[in-house]
Amino acid sequence: MTYTARWWRREEGGARCGLCFHRCLIPAGGVGYCKVRGWDGDVFSSPCLGRFSSCALDPIEKKPLYHWRPGSYIFSLGSAGCNMRCPFCQNHGIAQPDTQRVSLMPLSPPDLARSVKREGLSSVAYTYNEPTLQAEYVLQAAPLLREAGIASVLVTNGMLSAEARDELTPWIDAVNVDVKTFDPVKYAALGGSLDVVKENAAGWVRAGVHVELTNLVVPGISDSREDFARMVDWIAEISPQVPLHISRYFPAHKYSAPPTSVALLKEFATIAGRKLTKVHLGNVF
Ligand code: SF4
Repeated sequence: MTYTARWWRREEGGARCGLCFHRCLIPAGGVGYCKVRGWDGDVFSSPCLGRFSSCALDPIEKKPLYHWRPGSYIFSLGSAGCNMRCPFCQNHGIAQPDTQRVSLMPLSPPDLARSVKREGLSSVAYTYNEPTLQAEYVLQAAPLLREAGIASVLVTNGMLSAEARDELTPWIDAVNVDVKTFDPVKYAALGGSLDVVKENAAGWVRAGVHVELTNLVVPGISDSREDFARMVDWIAEISPQVPLHISRYFPAHKYSAPPTSVALLKEFATIAGRKLTKVHLGNVF
């Protein structure tokens, strides 16, 4: 099955991709910041479209989604690539890969719908790596899934462009958005944008999509009490009902700071609990 890459156009100097906020200008023979979408001078494409590195049945709470179909299992798919560069990435093997070395298996939208039905499940999550890099596939699969009574879920860093979000939103039932930090300079250093994640998360809530937020508390990046309190204020303005998962970091990839102190996580939960009604600690055993 073939998938036509979208949200790009020819410009002087190359092809401009508009799938995410980076809006890369890619010269012939090059790839974008995500390392998976590229232009050969004629065709704009991604070797990852419709091809997946991982497939699992996960408890929905693992996404994490605690307030949408609780107690259910979700068919989870991961591919390869990411449009951020978090040094503490727990899935860096597929998220920041040499795509030649990641084994990817095709799964067509009709086969996906059949597999999910056969397993007796009612939802699919695009997860593990950045799922919006798979937007064209999601748009092909979601109508088939919906027809079969199966919901579509994104576990995303929320860096997609407004154009892509507007097209995906009617087909997405639930999202978990990872808010990395509330410091715009630190966000930029991770390859992301605080303004973009705020706009996309708020946009999904406004559109009626079920939204839960995750904040991984990483020492030196997202452990400022002031930044955290400002993030809670922002969430409360959207809606105090939006669930917030405050998650414990453990050393991974290129980041070796010790794990987040549990005392700090509990303090953050107390701060959040003053303004939000659904606050959860994650990765705390
Ligand atoms: S998806 Fe984002 S990072 Fe990848 S090529 Fe397009 S604009 Fe660049």
